[in-house]
Amino acid sequence: MQNYHKTRAIIIAVPHTSLLPKLYILITNASALFLIFTPRHPKFGYPLHLFTMLLHQLIEGIAHLFYPHICEGCSKQLVTNEQILCISCASLLPETNNYKIPDNETGLRFAGRVPYRYAATYAYFTDDGLLQHLLHRLKYAGKQEIGTYLGKKFGQNLKDAAWINEIDAIIPVPLHPDKLAKRGFNQTMLLGQGMAQSIGIDMMTDVLIRTRNTESQTSKSRSERVENMAGAFRITQKQRIEGKHILLIDDVLTTGATLEACALALMEAKGVAISIATIGIAV
Ligand SMILES: [Zn+2]
Repeated sequence: MQNYHKTRAIIIAVPHTSLLPKLYILITNASALFLIFTPRHPKFGYPLHLFTMLLHQLIEGIAHLFYPHICEGCSKQLVTNEQILCISCASLLPETNNYKIPDNETGLRFAGRVPYRYAATYAYFTDDGLLQHLLHRLKYAGKQEIGTYLGKKFGQNLKDAAWINEIDAIIPVPLHPDKLAKRGFNQTMLLGQGMAQSIGIDMMTDVLIRTRNTESQTSKSRSERVENMAGAFRITQKQRIEGKHILLIDDVLTTGATLEACALALMEAKGVAISIATIGIAV
């Protein structure tokens, strides 16, 4: 999984006083930006919305010819209807399909620790694997559309699970506000957005909060991770989830310490049921 870096240019039509170009560069990480200034209409001033819109579409089409959207897996040009991954890379994502299996490997990591109802993972996460690459691009290159893409794919699978109809809302593992400010987005929330959209359920992002900015977990043993995470999360509006069945989600499941701490915090609400879903499971 090498050679993923891509160069992309954005061409947009904007009124010349607009701040949009700066925003576009910021949001898309574009490496180049070309501006076409829209003319001022003699009578109505500018921008000439329709003209601008049409010009924008035309230019986008031309831009696509020169700077095509490319596959995040193999860098080949994507064709219409392909998003993020080309059809052959998408078929290589090692989906677990374990939502169909009771007592699956996702659930086993929480056995005896969290009284969960159901557990599921979208795909296997291996060193240098495709999922690792995609999540890396999401988190560290700011490719936020990868988050919603993966969430949607997982959500489409989960729609086949009979138990998904029992879920009332999705809650993503929150980031500490300091980390959120630094990164600019919560990758797990983006995954949740995609899932909520394709499943057709609500996502709650203000019920569970992270009160402690925990140290990195990567070099810690399982028991150290559990200790590191204990009490790092807090529930803010218990009554909103009382008696509800919550699908708690995270990006990659390793020891499960983070999800365990989140579940324990959520279970302070009366009658709450917890199920767990992760995009990856480290194997
Ligand atoms: Zn590909």
